[in-house]
Amino acid sequence: MTKLRLAIVGAGPAGIYAADILLKNERAFDVSIDLFDHLPAPYGLVRYGVAPDHPRIKGIITALREVLDRGDIRIFGNVRFGVDLTLDDLKQHYNAVIFSTGAVRDASLDIPGIDLPGSYGGADFVSWYDGHPDYPREWPLDAQSVAVLGNGNVALDVARMLAKPADDLLPTEIPDNVYQALKASPVTDVHVFGRRGPAQVKFSPLELREVGELRDVDMIVYDEDFDYDEASKAAIASNKQVMVIDKVLNQWREREVGQASRRLHLHFYASPVELVAGPDGRLASFRYERTEPDGAGGVRGTGEFRSVEVQALYRAVGYFGSPLDGVPFDEKRGVIPNHEGQVYAEGDTEILPGVYATGWIKRGPVGLIGHTKSDAMETISHLVNDQASWWSPADPSEQSIVELLQSRGVEYTDLDGWHALDEHEIALGEPQGRARIKVVPRDEMVQIARGQNGS
Ligand SMILES: Cc1cc2nc3c(=O)[nH]c(=O)nc-3n(C[C@H](O)[C@H](O)[C@H](O)COP(=O)(O)OP(=O)(O)OC[C@H]3O[C@@H](n4cnc5c(N)ncnc54)[C@H](O)[C@@H]3O)c2cc1C
Repeated sequence: MTKLRLAIVGAGPAGIYAADILLKNERAFDVSIDLFDHLPAPYGLVRYGVAPDHPRIKGIITALREVLDRGDIRIFGNVRFGVDLTLDDLKQHYNAVIFSTGAVRDASLDIPGIDLPGSYGGADFVSWYDGHPDYPREWPLDAQSVAVLGNGNVALDVARMLAKPADDLLPTEIPDNVYQALKASPVTDVHVFGRRGPAQVKFSPLELREVGELRDVDMIVYDEDFDYDEASKAAIASNKQVMVIDKVLNQWREREVGQASRRLHLHFYASPVELVAGPDGRLASFRYERTEPDGAGGVRGTGEFRSVEVQALYRAVGYFGSPLDGVPFDEKRGVIPNHEGQVYAEGDTEILPGVYATGWIKRGPVGLIGHTKSDAMETISHLVNDQASWWSPADPSEQSIVELLQSRGVEYTDLDGWHALDEHEIALGEPQGRARIKVVPRDEMVQIARGQNGS
């Protein structure tokens, strides 16, 4: 029987779902799958993006783990495509590759002052509080008043993590250094800014409600933002999500405020203009232009400029994919150019045989974990149908890739290693009644996973 040797690069939900769907697919050939990730632990943004106080979503890891534990997929963690492994290597040892490398970078926001000290990317902050091994352990939480730009769920995550009393995060898996830094934070006011109105936000109702339930935090919304135009009224009347969001926001308008020690402000119709430095050269205020509905669901500037004093600003205006060596990349959209997961050669006209994409690197950084499943189904159906154009590897043996990585001195981690790290983290949390405490330094993760930590 023909055998498909498949490499999947990226062990986030998209890569794991793709492997699972292919293995469950009725097909006329055998399959063996190797899953590579540059992190020593799998699960991508479910481990390093989803907020620690969202244990229900983090619980998706249990389902992903069941797929890996079935034993028919090999994992090679701590292997970076483009450094430890190239596209030519994969062509030597596999019939095809699926890239599911997601997105970890912040999308840029090109306004004056965006690089001032005190201005941060939301994605960097997320990586810090979720204990990503490649980010600094220290985070300067020294601001009393903070701005968060963006009206999506990541902006809400960032604002919530900044405003939430640190002790309420203690039962979660946050690393100790994150707890200590949040506990010492002097923040009193977090201001979230969106360019458009309440009827155009991208928050999900559940996440919005959640910020309203934070202990010792007042929600502040401003009456001037609720003078809806016809397009907003129509959006509220026709979409249940928008209707719920409007209801939640209007309930907050009626709430008594003034007792809490922290405040979370939601400002709508505010278009970023510039970040202004104080005499010490650090961020001192954020300047924005008030906008108004343009009658067609968008907004236009009003010419009225306002400023808020802030010592820190986080832009949470989206994520962006990163290019991979030797793989076509759409610089504008931050994705691998593709047709339903079949990767285009440079120029977007011809399909590159044997190369596929799925998840955020295929579609762009929007959508929930569940969406990566339907994505994977589409990509896999092409892969299966494309049998005639798969690569013909010189050495498709399963041992060959192990030998290659060993010959390059790559300290890869495998499924048993992940189990060891997982158990280690759970054991660290146990004495404190916590689900787990994450191990953050990469070398420590690798040592534990490779049984080199003396345990
Ligand atoms: C802050 C934040 C919060 C979120 N919260 C939720 C939520 O509450 N609920 C929800 O449903 N969705 C949430 N999402 C969305 C969800 O995380 C994504 O839909 C999903 O993770 C995308 O999956 P993916 O596999 O495409 O990418 P990722 O999860 O990013 O996985 C990509 C993997 O590829 C690896 N990789 C990258 N480059 C290389 C390379 N060169 N070599 C080898 N490996 C590489 C990475 O290490 C990573 O493990 C959130 C996203 C963010 C950013």
